[in-house]
Amino acid sequence: MSEKLDKIKNNILKNKNLPLYQGKNKLVFGEGKSDADIIFIGEAPGAEEEKQNKPFCGRAGQILNKLFNSINLSREDVYITNIVKFRPPNNRKPKQSEIEAYASYLDKQIQIINPDIIVCLGNTACQYIFNKYNLSDKLSGISKIHGKIFKADDLKIIPFYHPAVAVYNFIELKKLKKDFKILKKTKA
Ligand code: URA
Repeated sequence: MSEKLDKIKNNILKNKNLPLYQGKNKLVFGEGKSDADIIFIGEAPGAEEEKQNKPFCGRAGQILNKLFNSINLSREDVYITNIVKFRPPNNRKPKQSEIEAYASYLDKQIQIINPDIIVCLGNTACQYIFNKYNLSDKLSGISKIHGKIFKADDLKIIPFYHPAVAVYNFIELKKLKKDFKILKKTKA
C-alpha cells in the first residue's frame, strides 16, 4: 500500500470519535493497487470483512470474485473499498451522518488512487458518488442505472448492482455478469 494511503488509514485509526467505531471492532480500510485504473466502492463491511480486515471477502465478496473472473480481471489490479470503514451494528445500512463522517477519508482515497473508472456497487455508493461528482440529476434507483456509464470530466462512473443481490438470487448472477462486461469494453 502506498505511504499516502497508509497515512489516511492511520488518521482513521487515530480518530476515536468516528461513528461506528466501538473500541474493539476492526477497521476495513480497503485493499488493492494504489494506482489502480478502477476503484470499486461498496457500502460497509460485514462480519467476515471485519474478521479478516478485508473488503468483500464474505458471501458478497465471493460473488464479486466470480464477476472479476468472468472478465479476467484480477482483484490485485483494482482497488476495493467501502463508503464506511467499520461494520454497522447488525449489518444495518449506514446512516447519512455516518456516511458524512467517513466521506473525507473516501475522498482522499479516490484522490490518491486517481482512477479512470469508479464502480459504485449498489445504491449507497451511487448516492454518495453521484452527489460528489455533481451527477445528482442523473441519479435514480440502481435497477434503472445499473450497467450504464456516466461521465464526470475525465472520470467514468459505472453503477452496478451490489453483489449481495445474487447471494440469495434476488437478481441472477448472469445479469450481474452481463453488466460487468461493460468494464472490459471500457478498459480496452
Ligand atoms: N458488502 C459491502 O458493501 N462491502 C463489503 O465489504 C462486504 C459486503
